[in-house]
Amino acid sequence: TGRLTGKVALITGGAGGCGLAASELFAAEGAKVGIVDLPRSEGEAVAARLRAAGHDAIFAPADVSDAGQVAAAVQAVRAAFGPITVLMNHAGILAAVPFLETSEEEWDRVMAVNVKSMFLVTKAVLPDMIAAGAGSIVSTSSISAVVGTPMEVLYCTSKGACHMFARAIAVEFRDRGIRSNAICPGFIATAHGLREIETLSKYGVDVSQEAIASAQGRLCKPEEVASAALFLASDDASFVNGAHLFADNAYTAI
Ligand code: NAD
Repeated sequence: TGRLTGKVALITGGAGGCGLAASELFAAEGAKVGIVDLPRSEGEAVAARLRAAGHDAIFAPADVSDAGQVAAAVQAVRAAFGPITVLMNHAGILAAVPFLETSEEEWDRVMAVNVKSMFLVTKAVLPDMIAAGAGSIVSTSSISAVVGTPMEVLYCTSKGACHMFARAIAVEFRDRGIRSNAICPGFIATAHGLREIETLSKYGVDVSQEAIASAQGRLCKPEEVASAALFLASDDASFVNGAHLFADNAYTAI
C-alpha cells in the first residue's frame, strides 16, 4: 500500500508545475486526489489521465482567490471522495517587477492568489480534519520567504506570509491532531520558474545557468518538490509540525 492510502487529498494548483507532480505522486501513493486549479488549466485532462491509470482523481475548477469558487470546489471534492484530510496549498503566481513599478492592482492580485487563497481553502477544509481528528496541511512557501530575491518585494512579501501562515496554523490546531508545514523550494524548472528567470534577466539580474549553478547547483525538479511535500503530507512526518522544509540544495544555508 502507498503512503497516502485511504486519504483524500486536495491540491490547489494541482494541474501544472510542481502541483501536477504532486497530484501524480499523491495518487500513485494511494490518495484520492481532488485537483483544484483554474478552469482554463489542464485540470480535466490530468484527472482523466490519473483515472485511466487506475487512480481516483477529479478536477474541481476554481480561482483560489474567490471565496465562492473555493467553497464549490472543496464541496465537489468532499462529495466525490469524502472528508479531506490532506491539503496542499500550492497555487501561486509570480511577480518579478521593480518595487517602484509595482501597481496597487498587481499587489492586491498576488496577495489574493498567494495568501488569501490559503485562508479561504484551509478554512473550507479544516472542518473535515477537525471532525476526523487528523489532517496534514502542506503550504508552498519559497526561498523567497527568507531571502530577498531581486525585483521581488511583492512576491517575497507574499511568501513570507505563507511561511507564517503554515506555522501559526500548526500552533492553533496541533491539539486536534492536525499538522501544518511549509515546503520551501528554490528555483524550479516549471513555467513559473522559467518565467521568473526570463523576467529577471530583463532587469539585468544575472540568472545565467552559471549563476544558478553557483547559487543552487542546478534547477530543482518538480518531482523533488512533490516528494518533499509527500513526506510532510504522510504519516511519516507524524511529529513534524510547524516546520519549514527547504528543497533548495542549501541555497539558503550559505
Ligand atoms: P506553475 O506556474 O508552473 O503552476 C502553477 C499552477 O497554479 C498552475 O497549474 C496554475 O494554473 C495554477 N494557478 C495559478 N493561479 C491560480 C488561481 N488563481 N487559482 C487556481 N489555480 C491557480 O508554478 P509552480 O512553479 O508549480 O509554482 C507553484 C507554487 O510554487 C507557487 O506557490 C510558487 O510560489 C511556488 N514556488 C515556485 C518556485 C519556482 O521557481 N517555480 C520556487 C519556489 C516556490
